[in-house]
Amino acid sequence: MSRVAYVNGRYLPHAAAAVHIEDRGYQFADGVYEVCEVRGGRLIDEARHGRRLDRSLRELRIDMPMSPAALGAVLREVVRFNRVEDGLVYLQITRGVAPRDHAFPLKEVRPSVVVTAHRLDSKARQKRAEQGIAVITVPDNRWDRVDIKTVGLLPNVLAKQAARDAGAYEAWFVDRDGRVTEGSSTNAWIVSADGVLLTRQAERGILRGITRTVLLDATAANAIRLEERAFTVSEAHGAREAFITSATATVTPVIAIDGKAISGGKPGKVTRQLQEAFYRHAEVAPLRAGPAVDGLQPGHFPR
Ligand code: PMP
Repeated sequence: MSRVAYVNGRYLPHAAAAVHIEDRGYQFADGVYEVCEVRGGRLIDEARHGRRLDRSLRELRIDMPMSPAALGAVLREVVRFNRVEDGLVYLQITRGVAPRDHAFPLKEVRPSVVVTAHRLDSKARQKRAEQGIAVITVPDNRWDRVDIKTVGLLPNVLAKQAARDAGAYEAWFVDRDGRVTEGSSTNAWIVSADGVLLTRQAERGILRGITRTVLLDATAANAIRLEERAFTVSEAHGAREAFITSATATVTPVIAIDGKAISGGKPGKVTRQLQEAFYRHAEVAPLRAGPAVDGLQPGHFPR
């Protein structure tokens, strides 16, 4: 089956889909993205991803190029064209194409919109969910606005590769005070030695993960003791349990940190409980419709 991508209003064969060489995303990483899980052909937490997209665009002063309803329709078309049942849909919006100059273009340019979708290897995901993964820690060398989901991901790329080189699956960034911020493409969680679930507060030091937000609801519903605060690497090394969250990792247990076994090298109890609870709290979009809420204003997503 040939793959299809959406680029600036057109559905194209994936191999032929392209943006201009002076697209500011390509030149300056001047753009934002979202990744939404597709499960059973349905979009997971579309409205929350839409709201975060809206915020990222506002922070960079890029206009939302289409209404949420139109965008929702494009996401669904791309999922459908690519026959993705279980996988992800990727959306990227950049400031657009203009002669290379760091400052914003003087003339109004149209933001570039790209959407792709692909299947994920369900067996490998299942295996990671059941058996857990290893993480390493690396210094956080990113800028201080990682709360904006920009396509400028070079430190994340290098951190992920460092993990792979070390035989691990994810790298956790550590700030100057020795506290874990988040993973290179996931949020980081531990159950501390005294049994409290910890994840860093969502300010500018981390991306406010959608999976993280949903899991906070699940935590409250399951009466799990939680503190949103930074934890140190040594707290992580001595943790009872650990896990990562993201749209594609959902809740994936961590069974080793920097080579030290966590919860005896097996996924922990709280982690299992939250894995099981996650989809009861996530929003699952209807198959064919647009976003589930009426009365949308262009550029605004339902609360
Ligand atoms: N932190 C970073 C740096 C990420 O790239 C991601 C994945 N986009 C996350 C956290 C998790 O976010 P989400 O749950 O919205 O996928």
